Amino acid sequence: MDSKDLYERSKSLLPGGVNSPVRTFDPYPFFVKSGSGSKIYDVEGNEYLDYCLGYGPLFLGHGHPAVLKAVKEQLEKGVHFGVPTEAEARLGEKIAGHVPCAEMVRFVNSGTEATMNAVRLARAYVGREKVLMFDGGYHGSHDSLLFESRGSKSPGIPRSLKNSTLVTPFNDLEKVEDIAKRNELAAIIVEPVMGNSGCIPPVEGFLEGLRNICDDSDILLIFDEVITGFRLALGGAQEYFDVRPDVVTLGKVIGGGFPIGAFGARREIMEMVKPEGEVFHAGTFSGHPVSMSAGTATIEVLENEEVIERTSSFAERLAKFLREESGYPVNQVGPMFQIFFKEGKVKDVDGARKSDEDKFKRLQRSLMEDGIFIPPSRFECWFVSGAHSEEDLAGTKKAIKNCPNLFRQGG
Ligand SMILES: *Cc1c(COP(=O)(O)O)cnc(C)c1O
Repeated sequence: MDSKDLYERSKSLLPGGVNSPVRTFDPYPFFVKSGSGSKIYDVEGNEYLDYCLGYGPLFLGHGHPAVLKAVKEQLEKGVHFGVPTEAEARLGEKIAGHVPCAEMVRFVNSGTEATMNAVRLARAYVGREKVLMFDGGYHGSHDSLLFESRGSKSPGIPRSLKNSTLVTPFNDLEKVEDIAKRNELAAIIVEPVMGNSGCIPPVEGFLEGLRNICDDSDILLIFDEVITGFRLALGGAQEYFDVRPDVVTLGKVIGGGFPIGAFGARREIMEMVKPEGEVFHAGTFSGHPVSMSAGTATIEVLENEEVIERTSSFAERLAKFLREESGYPVNQVGPMFQIFFKEGKVKDVDGARKSDEDKFKRLQRSLMEDGIFIPPSRFECWFVSGAHSEEDLAGTKKAIKNCPNLFRQGG
């Protein structure tokens, strides 16, 4: 069956033919058969250089030997027990060892579960109910954080939740100050670099300002580092920007391609989690040995090889090329970046929303025809993996030069 047949078949069984909405695009997505290093291969046998990387988790690329070895070893021993394994302590040590704010962690199965539980913990610790998030921030698909400035992002979310989840623009400290003054906030949750509104870095002083506001009003600061964790630095954005939150949520990279999430904080906060404390969290698959093993192997490679430095340099050079070639703004932080087809700088999601969707889609299509796969949404990021080579960089530049009529200069 080719991709078109598989899509028709899936569409009759799965809404939209997919299991997460961003995965479909016009006229239909290619169906993948395998991946290796920086490349993926569709069922027709076409090769694509992969800047999607499973939407972020595969920081070492597809099928990294160290990850495969760790997973195979775990598979031989058994996949799941519901009884503690050493694998959990090993990944716990990696996280506590690298992430400044995390003295203890609890593993869960997704970023969604991580932020859901982090917010519950913050509410319990502070003894207040309201949470402030930023417009365009994405913290997974659970009800209490599925909001944007206009209201909830989906039918089916109780209207009452709107009273406890406040939304304000990213990079506007004055508005945050004002909201913190007028509301009893338990927590402020923020993606330190917005990675679900394209790629939007914090302006100078923004994260420090959030830290100060939280300190002044006894609010917990939660960094949602599901994308930035172990990607901008081993210690994540909190190390990269040198601002320490109270609570961190992790996911994606720390599972080495397997389902995972985690939330962590200083001991005093984490000791409130059941069974040590009263704040409920449980999960059949939490601390899954295969995810733990793949994650630990991934972090060991990051510790021993200069993956973060190399991928960041790759992204910086490619972003610069794309910016100069296109004449449009390209935001880049470490190994992640995005182009915005609009005038002027993009410092919040309103800027990202103004980027020309049609042009972005044409860019995505044109690159795909040249064997390069980028996430098919202007609100995602291009990700670079440790497997991306100088040859891959040269090939991507060539394909960008090949894009017809999209750019303001060159092209
Ligand atoms: C992907 C993501 C999540 C959700 O993680 P899932 O594993 O998809 O549930 C949460 N927060 C951020 C910042 C993310 O990018």
